[in-house]
Amino acid sequence: MLKRCIAILLTVVTSLAATIAVGAQGSQEKFNQEAIAKIKEEGMKHSQVMDTLSYITDVSGGRLTGSPNIKAAQEWARQKLASWGLENAHLEAWGPFGRGWSLENFSAGITKPYYAPLIAYPKAWSPATNGAVRGTPVLFNPKTEADLDKYKGRLKGAIVLMTGLREVKAHFEPLGHRQSDADLLSLADVEPASAAGPGRFRVTEEQCAEIALTNKKWEMLQNEGAALAIEAGMTQRGSGDGGTMFVQAATLAYPESTPQDKRKTVRDKDAPAVVPQVVLAVEHYNQIIRMMSRGAPVQLEFNLSTKFYDQDLMSYNVIAEIPGTDLKEEIVMLGAHFDSWHSGTGATDNAAGSAVCLEAVRILQSLGLKPRRTIRIGLWSGEEEGLLGSRAYVTDHFGKRVGNEPRFSPCPPAAREQRPPQTPQFELKPDREKVAGYFNLDNGTGKIRGIYLQGNEEVRSIFQAWFAPFKDMLGTTKENAFATLSIANTGGTDHLSFDAIGLPGFQFIQDPIEYDTRTHHSNMDVYDRIQEEDMKQAATIMAAFVYNTAMRDKKLPRKQLPGQPVARTGQ
Ligand SMILES: [Zn+2]
Repeated sequence: MLKRCIAILLTVVTSLAATIAVGAQGSQEKFNQEAIAKIKEEGMKHSQVMDTLSYITDVSGGRLTGSPNIKAAQEWARQKLASWGLENAHLEAWGPFGRGWSLENFSAGITKPYYAPLIAYPKAWSPATNGAVRGTPVLFNPKTEADLDKYKGRLKGAIVLMTGLREVKAHFEPLGHRQSDADLLSLADVEPASAAGPGRFRVTEEQCAEIALTNKKWEMLQNEGAALAIEAGMTQRGSGDGGTMFVQAATLAYPESTPQDKRKTVRDKDAPAVVPQVVLAVEHYNQIIRMMSRGAPVQLEFNLSTKFYDQDLMSYNVIAEIPGTDLKEEIVMLGAHFDSWHSGTGATDNAAGSAVCLEAVRILQSLGLKPRRTIRIGLWSGEEEGLLGSRAYVTDHFGKRVGNEPRFSPCPPAAREQRPPQTPQFELKPDREKVAGYFNLDNGTGKIRGIYLQGNEEVRSIFQAWFAPFKDMLGTTKENAFATLSIANTGGTDHLSFDAIGLPGFQFIQDPIEYDTRTHHSNMDVYDRIQEEDMKQAATIMAAFVYNTAMRDKKLPRKQLPGQPVARTGQ
């Protein structure tokens, strides 16, 4: 196996000149060193990123796509961008996305044999209970599909606990950490072949059986007319305790035989009714089950008030520009998703990335750097529901993949393995040629440690050179290996919308901090979990990468589009 050290050795040519030429294998990547020094000064010494972050999180609240909260936050961002002097700041509609939803009021408690409040959050798009729902809960814990019959007639009007006890372990490991040199080395060592990542979501037959049983349980709840469903807010991996819980959208189940294109989502205006659904802190969840198993006369009470918005089914991306000069027809984009889940204020997912992008354009604009290419920021919505906002933007402006794009379905595993390879087809728009690059940030509060090359080997030496001025801020003490350049594809966020049609879209490598263990999609995804110094660093590096892309003679190199001639745009 070819070992790539954390960053291939850089030959740094220090010089008094304003440009610096560095690189491996003799490639020369020049950039404006003076401008980068100014960006560093502004970003690290005069940052406004935490102020921006506080408006997006504390002031706006959770930003569920379609909610009044996100609309207010988008309008705030639009005005802020315009006030910094960006041009063409606007909310761009895409959709239809579906109904908006907001939580209006909520209470949850044990009322007998004693009173105790419960830590709980409703799932997004859950209907209201229309007044208080009270009762002794039913533990709905069938082990097989045959067991389901035992519950017939017992679920109507009931408060239902959806699983048995969940195991809660003490934490002897810290919730948060930074990437170690070994972590970074393994990222840097990824082979290109594994970058495509087929089978990453491979599931076992047993897991598929469990998914099918869970689906049947939800179907039965809907059919029998349960009053309320309760789940423990713990992930399958066992994260989510100590008052932290993970809360997403309400479940809408369909019989397996229903074709994908006949299925609605809970946000669709004409979606079938689902039962009200809440997520409970795992310790409280387990407490109720233990009380029941010991014969205590448990009574619970829930009162859930929610509101749906179906006047405007469209959603919006926030877009604004710093106009270019001699190459102003070409664009460099930076972006992050602005939407979040609703139980926290979406601080690390992804007000952090949004605030970093906003701060990056503020830095560039405040320095009066006149970029050659137009710099365009995109704050996407609908990311949490499937990268919907960025995908719609890319489709509207640059093109799309057409034809039978395979729908992701992990079960049954055998069918997935047998699927024939597809040759994708594309419908590309003229503006696709004008995109010089796209940079995304969406992995929490952690500072930037490198970048995923997304299988695009030709950008390696360019990005190596661009990281050089930040080697004191990248968190390793290694003189020659300060930034991690991984050939891997990383997934799960909006750069994929660009990458899908062969545009050079990149996501940075960040420290994970407490992302998977505490903040990602949880009620504790709030401002105080954000690390200020990391945010400043990320915004400064984002500004530099965007600026360098706007200034270089040629657009960033592109990968070959599958099934198409090489769309090479030079280096
Ligand atoms: Zn997310």
